[in-house]
Amino acid sequence: MLLVLMPEPHYDLHTHSTASDGTLTPSELVRRACAQGVDVLALTDHDSVEGIAEAQRAARLLDLKLMAGAEVSVTWRGRTVHIVGLNVDPVSAVLQDGLTRQREFREWRAREMARRLARHGIMGAYEGALALVDGGIVSRTHFARYIVAQGRAKSLRDVFKRFLVSGKPGHVPGEWASLEEAVAWIRGAGGQAVVAHPARYKLSASKLRTLFGEFQECGGVGIEVVSGCHSPDDARSMAVHARSCGLLASAGSDYHGPENPCVELGGLPSLPGDCVPIWASWQD
Ligand code: AMP
Ligand code: MN
Ligand code: MN
Ligand code: MN
Repeated sequence: MLLVLMPEPHYDLHTHSTASDGTLTPSELVRRACAQGVDVLALTDHDSVEGIAEAQRAARLLDLKLMAGAEVSVTWRGRTVHIVGLNVDPVSAVLQDGLTRQREFREWRAREMARRLARHGIMGAYEGALALVDGGIVSRTHFARYIVAQGRAKSLRDVFKRFLVSGKPGHVPGEWASLEEAVAWIRGAGGQAVVAHPARYKLSASKLRTLFGEFQECGGVGIEVVSGCHSPDDARSMAVHARSCGLLASAGSDYHGPENPCVELGGLPSLPGDCVPIWASWQD
């Protein structure tokens, strides 16, 4: 008997395009991912599924499976937490209605951020950020790009640290969806909900367990164990959480473009062996 061992496909289940704050168009992202050896790519723009149709058209011409997704901003106990929806139906009314509400808040927040920044001598930030928006949503990243272009800061990271995070002049607290709403929108669209980059929130192990417990009660099924912004230690400790909570493990680069990636497309490490990959729950 001939035993042929197929290599495991390469999954990247968290990426951004110009439909939110990425710098590659959906088709450029898909082509680059394919060239870099990604077999299954989820496009997960912030609060938007606007890029999915273009990404799907590009993927059809290539040997790459495009999965429809979105990264939904959530306010949980006064903090912002991101929930990735995988395998969603992008035309689902329940998801579309939810994301529309998120975008309305983004629009209001953008004007409010600009008012606050103007009081600190950064003028024209609303118009400046909007001029950099290529798709449907305006994010803090667009503000950061404008402020760097104005010569008021040396890098995006620098802008966030000085102006856009809690306690800084341009910060406006989030009023995003609740955890329950975000998971309901994703499930209503037939998708699976995954906690994005859990090690990024600087939560204690016990707070993380509380988050994961509430998330599961809402119907969430997975967490990102491997993420572009996780260290190897973060991945190991999230694998322990996934196992002990009975959550599936996801892997995504959180790629925003080639300028300054945490990890390049195709460059994600493998999941630790002791967790159950989310793709084990998928039928071919
Ligand atoms: P928003 O959803 O509009 O609040 O913007 C959040 C986005 O800002 C994240 O998805 C990141 O892409 C980006 N971001 C957050 N913190 C930083 C940082 N320190 N440096 C660069 N980009 C950041
Ligand atoms: Mn982003
Ligand atoms: Mn995120
Ligand atoms: Mn992201």
